[in-house]
Amino acid sequence: MSLMPVLFVGHGSPMNALDTNAFTAGLHELAKKIPKPQAILCVSAHWETQGTQVLYHAAPPTIHDFYGFPKELFDVQYPVRGPLSIAHETQKLLPGSALNEKWGLDHGAWSVLVHMYPHADIPAFQVSLDVAKTPEQHVEAGRHLRALREKGVLILGSGNIVHNLKVLNWREPQAVYEWTKDFDLTVKKALEERDEKTLERLAAETSLAVPTPEHYWPLLYCFGASQGSDRISYPYEGYEMGSLSMRSVLWS
Ligand code: ZN
Repeated sequence: MSLMPVLFVGHGSPMNALDTNAFTAGLHELAKKIPKPQAILCVSAHWETQGTQVLYHAAPPTIHDFYGFPKELFDVQYPVRGPLSIAHETQKLLPGSALNEKWGLDHGAWSVLVHMYPHADIPAFQVSLDVAKTPEQHVEAGRHLRALREKGVLILGSGNIVHNLKVLNWREPQAVYEWTKDFDLTVKKALEERDEKTLERLAAETSLAVPTPEHYWPLLYCFGASQGSDRISYPYEGYEMGSLSMRSVLWS
């Protein structure tokens, strides 16, 4: 079996789950281009825990982990199966991790998957973000996950490279802050140069682009799971409301 790609998606607003736009159409097309996965492992910005947890659920519930959105969004269901044996194998790959039978798929996962695999026919599970880990340890965890690529597992990081909700520009949603662009392009360059130190430093520093690290961390898992021989490409690039980078990154 050929090596599965690794994908990072900037997910943006949960409303993307319901919308059809250039970003969601791009996800749909991308899924047709990459090999069909045996399973999908999502590392989402929206599951933070003490210690690393691996979702172990035969029928993971769709979690609506947000407030103030329309009823249609709360009605979205993604009735996928969970790949139990792969989840168990994943837990063994991650030192000190534990199985979790209670979580489900949060919107970081399903708001992307509804567009990529609308039939919910590919088993999916998640690995949590351990809030106690250093950036180096998040990359290391990603490295441990690399072996899953040989088993047909798509590693899908879901966050945003730049994510600052406090300064969203509602008046001019098309405008982009200079610091958003600068940070996004700095990360792009670091990814291309495989400059792990810079990627880790940017996760550790509090900045306007990364006021809290949870949306950035999934990128570190993807970087760890990628390798120098992968070709890097950007299935989607763009900015929303000034302070969100919607960049997706594919290593294939
Ligand atoms: Zn989010």
